[in-house]
Amino acid sequence: MLTKLDPQELRDSAHAIPYQKIKSGLFPGIALWMRRDDLLDPIISGNKAFKLVFNLAQARLFGAHTLITCGGAWSNHIHATAAAGMRLGFKTVGIIRGERAPTPSATLVDAERFGMQLIHLSRTAYRQRHNPDFLPQLGITDPFALFIPEGGANIAGARGVQLLASAIQHTQPVHFDEIWLACGTGLTLGALQSGLKNQKVVGVPVLKAAKSIAREAALWQKQLIGKMINMELKPEYHCGGYARRPAYLKAFQNQFEQQTGILLDPVYTLKLAYALHRECLLKRLTPGANVLLLHTGGLQGRRSTCHTDRVQ
Ligand SMILES: *Cc1c(COP(=O)(O)O)cnc(C)c1O
Repeated sequence: MLTKLDPQELRDSAHAIPYQKIKSGLFPGIALWMRRDDLLDPIISGNKAFKLVFNLAQARLFGAHTLITCGGAWSNHIHATAAAGMRLGFKTVGIIRGERAPTPSATLVDAERFGMQLIHLSRTAYRQRHNPDFLPQLGITDPFALFIPEGGANIAGARGVQLLASAIQHTQPVHFDEIWLACGTGLTLGALQSGLKNQKVVGVPVLKAAKSIAREAALWQKQLIGKMINMELKPEYHCGGYARRPAYLKAFQNQFEQQTGILLDPVYTLKLAYALHRECLLKRLTPGANVLLLHTGGLQGRRSTCHTDRVQ
């Protein structure tokens, strides 16, 4: 849970997360477990809670009363930031990629209900988000506002993910030979591997950007521990691109959810589970290996019905 501005609380919650043994014919030849960080907090999605915790503590330390961030219409990070702001007493502003749709996404409806002020930008204007003049050009000059980059991708976010690494180190029920996770920017992959130096971490990019994900993951490792550790990426499971869910993927999701009783999110953890399923069928894993899948959350995104189309 993330109910107060105390990273110790999230650390304790991370240590209490269950590891669930998965018995399913979809993953032949290995011993499979899933770590359920989707259960970390009812409204602040797993991996985004880790990325936010030190950003929020820093905001309080700096005396900031507003959090400003950006993302797409189905962004887990926008949703989590709005929820955290409501709980912890920060005003929130969300800069959203793309014009406002006639029917806003369930994510944005929630964000507004959580009190977030939304500013919609054209895709062209949104591209300027890394420019230092981005906020002043939007007329935002509030000295008491803290800007958190898209996805929570800053050094405070990376340090938060190290809490997850430390929790895994201390609570894993067996020594995992491989730990698999879904990658968007690659920050979680880099930060996790930096905290799990002697374990093999495998990243599954959910978009056609394996090279930039590898670069990003390496960059965060350098910042956190001063060096790079070998990581493995499985670049062939983006399934057509970000937020695409072709029919075969939807069919796999139904099978997985029926057999395990665990729900997946359509953008990240679905492609993660699918990638491991395929690699098992191709016999690319060591027979009998102990493998951990990280359920990083994101279940709010299940409300989107148009994942075969581009949603962001
Ligand atoms: C954001 C997100 C990720 C990816 O995290 P990165 O650090 O951007 O690679 C994975 N899973 C879920 C559910 C997410 O919301």
